[in-house]
Amino acid sequence: MKRLHYEGQGAVVLEEVPTPVPGPGEALVRIEASAVCGSERQALLAGHRSNGGHEACGVVAEPASSTFSVGDRVGLAAVIGCGFCERCRAGREIHCRGISGVEGGWHAEYAVVPERALRRVPKGLGPEIGVLLTGDGLGVPARAFRRVPSNEGDRVLVIGLGPIGLGHAMLRAFLGAEVVAIEPHQYRRELANALGATRVIGPGGEIGDAPMIVVECSGRPDCVRLAFDLVDYGGTVIESAGCDVDVPLNPSKMIVDREITYTGSFYYSSEDFAYMCELVSNGLALESLCSHLVKPHEAEGAIRDFLDGNSGKVIITWP
Ligand SMILES: [Zn+2]
Ligand SMILES: [Zn+2]
Repeated sequence: MKRLHYEGQGAVVLEEVPTPVPGPGEALVRIEASAVCGSERQALLAGHRSNGGHEACGVVAEPASSTFSVGDRVGLAAVIGCGFCERCRAGREIHCRGISGVEGGWHAEYAVVPERALRRVPKGLGPEIGVLLTGDGLGVPARAFRRVPSNEGDRVLVIGLGPIGLGHAMLRAFLGAEVVAIEPHQYRRELANALGATRVIGPGGEIGDAPMIVVECSGRPDCVRLAFDLVDYGGTVIESAGCDVDVPLNPSKMIVDREITYTGSFYYSSEDFAYMCELVSNGLALESLCSHLVKPHEAEGAIRDFLDGNSGKVIITWP
């Protein structure tokens, strides 16, 4: 089969590798569409033994059990847990004490995954929507919304409009919030406007009234600080990006005096999936998140646009 290989420095090639063979409890999926997650930046720059793909949708080629049939359209969940512990059984695989994730490498013609990674795509939806529905594209914003809902008319500020930030902006606007966003790249500012944000500014711009919710999606320590500076008294800051460095924090000034809640949200779990499907059936136009729909041999150009801040969601369709 063909798959993408991340060579480093944003270079991407198509390589031929053996098609994986499913073991017990595993399904073989023929991938129809894979999407690039914002978190793949590091793998794209540093190189990877295959690729960082962990959002994909396709059809079951070899089922693991009678639960799925050949030809069923499924999305692949990247965080599936052990499947046995009380947290997994409660639909909170992301909190599993055992296994945390699956291999990935899903920018490829085929993937083998444990059957519990399969999310059934509702009838009538194609693979380009399926990959957004079952991956980070909708999963991350939807779980964050369930954890910290916004009401109609609430001001929500999104800092950083990579693919995840754009998803938060689109979902919050769809559900009635007044969305403000900060982003350095003009391409993404314009896309956020098209997705329903009412005010999108560059760094240092004026955001207007203080927001009740700030969704921090840049992962930059200075932007974490900025989120605390800008959120309203009594408001909530949601961390929705990886920021693996220490950020100085003055609890009195930043948390106590202004009664600010600081929380995080990670990926999504099966307990979120029915809600995600409901959003799409209620008219959430997920396809608007996609700026680049490309064939595998065109992936490198689209990925370079992504690295340069000139993309929304990049989706690769596999023949
Ligand atoms: Zn991701
Ligand atoms: Zn578990």
